[in-house]
Amino acid sequence: MKEYDYIIAGAGLFGATFAHQARKQGKKCLVIDRRAHTGGNTFCRNVNGINVHEYGAHIFHTNDKGIWDFVNSFVEFNRYTNSPVANYQGRLYNLPFNMNTFYQLWGVKTPEEAEKKIKEQVASVSISKPVNLEEQALLLVGPDIYEKLIKGYTEKQWGRKATDLPAFIIKRLPVRFTFDNNYFNDRYQGIPQGGYNLLTAGLLEDIEVKLSTDFLADKDYFTSLADKVVYTGALDEYYGYRFGALQYRSLRFEHEQLDIANYQGNAVVNYTEASIPFTRIIEHKHFEFGTQAHTIITREYPAEWTKGMEPYYPVNDDQNMERFKQYQQLAAQEKNVLFGGRLAEYKYYDMHQVIAAALVTARKELAAE
Ligand code: UDP
Repeated sequence: MKEYDYIIAGAGLFGATFAHQARKQGKKCLVIDRRAHTGGNTFCRNVNGINVHEYGAHIFHTNDKGIWDFVNSFVEFNRYTNSPVANYQGRLYNLPFNMNTFYQLWGVKTPEEAEKKIKEQVASVSISKPVNLEEQALLLVGPDIYEKLIKGYTEKQWGRKATDLPAFIIKRLPVRFTFDNNYFNDRYQGIPQGGYNLLTAGLLEDIEVKLSTDFLADKDYFTSLADKVVYTGALDEYYGYRFGALQYRSLRFEHEQLDIANYQGNAVVNYTEASIPFTRIIEHKHFEFGTQAHTIITREYPAEWTKGMEPYYPVNDDQNMERFKQYQQLAAQEKNVLFGGRLAEYKYYDMHQVIAAALVTARKELAAE
């Protein structure tokens, strides 16, 4: 008889959701995390009354009522709607690409005029089957928007030419012929009232957690503590990088407190030109409609990941996916280890997708018991 039913490596959304579900079924779980806090990249540090998204801005959205009700059962979400603004050469444009953007770019006032303009733009490039992000973007919106609002931002975020990036990345962004600046199409959206740490605290309630504890530093020992392991870290790292490291994009954040109440009037302003080294400035108080006399802003600088840095975005190109498949074959042979989450699945996951994946894994696992 082992001390725990599950040892869960990683206290992010996948690990915490799995732990919650397992505990509900009477399973004994130990969650460990190498960081000094829970919540993974949703973790916020409260600095002088403002929740600072330490690992980059997180905006929750989903179309799935079940997921929305699930997260709201731990903490109520506010009415925040993401409407980023893009700054290109000192001029401001609304995102995602919508009637406001088309008016700002071309002065077109009706959907008919805008559609005609986009059609002309797209026709000028003659692409039928897009094979990379550049071609996909040109096919979607044409060269004007591509040059001003996509190319520079994308190439600095990914550190790769847009012609070397997978097309799916740009399909994340809606294109619409209404005056609607909501970045997401999903029905439900918001930020936990009081911050993301309350969501994590709810998920991990009554579950044993050990922080600053690195599963991989003593994999055999931690594995021996429980019947099964749920591992949410990077898959290549779990296997000692034996087929080589998977590529990630990392980020460097420069936080700054300013003695003014309102710096940019919006939570997110993207800087889309190549010559500005950061991709965006986040003004954290606006996620929660803060009324403090001061504000905290964060400039986000993309960087290539090397060992020891935080891995943020998986680079899902053909070469990396080939390598990932080799690791997946090893993972498939494990009898007592479940793998899940953004890092273990090497997937560009949004939060709601991570929670959904953890709920599915938990359902299958706990039903099979
Ligand atoms: N993107 C862009 N211009 C922008 C914002 C996004 O070209 O102003 C592209 C870019 O290629 C980026 C992708 O859209 O990688 C997805 O952006 P999203 O905002 O979904 O990225 P995340 O919020 O996950 O960092």
